[in-house]
Amino acid sequence: MRKLFLLTVALTGGFFMANAQQTAKHEDTEFYEPVPPVVTPGKTNSEPPSDAIILFNGNNLNQWVTTDDNSKPAQWTVSGDYFTVKKGTGNIETKRKFKNYQLHMEWRIPANITGEGQARGNSGLFLASTGKGDSGYELQILDNYNNKTYVNGQAGSIYKQFIPLVNANKKPGEWQSYDVIWQEPTFNSDGTVNTPATVTVLFNGVLVQNHVTLKGETLYVGQPKYKAYSGGAPIKLQAHGDKSEPDSFRNIWIRDL
Ligand code: MG
Repeated sequence: MRKLFLLTVALTGGFFMANAQQTAKHEDTEFYEPVPPVVTPGKTNSEPPSDAIILFNGNNLNQWVTTDDNSKPAQWTVSGDYFTVKKGTGNIETKRKFKNYQLHMEWRIPANITGEGQARGNSGLFLASTGKGDSGYELQILDNYNNKTYVNGQAGSIYKQFIPLVNANKKPGEWQSYDVIWQEPTFNSDGTVNTPATVTVLFNGVLVQNHVTLKGETLYVGQPKYKAYSGGAPIKLQAHGDKSEPDSFRNIWIRDL
């Protein structure tokens, strides 16, 4: 009797389940719009895809200006397929402003680099330049192949905010890459933060920052703090002013998101 009861329950349950499956259709969860636009990938992931904006293609710095005087063209030195920091001319930044983006950039610490700690090939990629000098959000560039410094100031760190997940440095003299996905901060009309900035960074193809939420702009002294801006911001490169040979850069492209 008990067996019969259980059998009845099993059969009835099966019937109701089968019935539910009949009413739900596979088409219900299949969508045909919006159609993602076709983008032809490059042969390697360092080559710009078809919808990228080229910020440096090896020829000139026409896309860049001097940070402290935007009316002045970038003064850094172009040679071969790369350009190099020119000491005494200051930071440079893009003419264009960007909001949310995917960026690729390659950089090289000189093979004959000298110095130690923060004075060894120091530069920086400012994910959003919010004014003159070093204002903005800095992804550190430094030689940390075999060079100790504070870990939240080493290559791949969001300077003084986030330690990189791994040390993916190559030797000085070798080209290295950053691939960045940046989501800009948004602000309320009274200047308070609406949504904080987030960033994901691959260093030589290796994840070092996994969608971290920024605490504010990079500060050398004191706690990071947000400063309201709108309409996007330029991408900036740092001339740090070390005594050693300066860093070089090449193959910079960006995709608006
Ligand atoms: Mg720096």
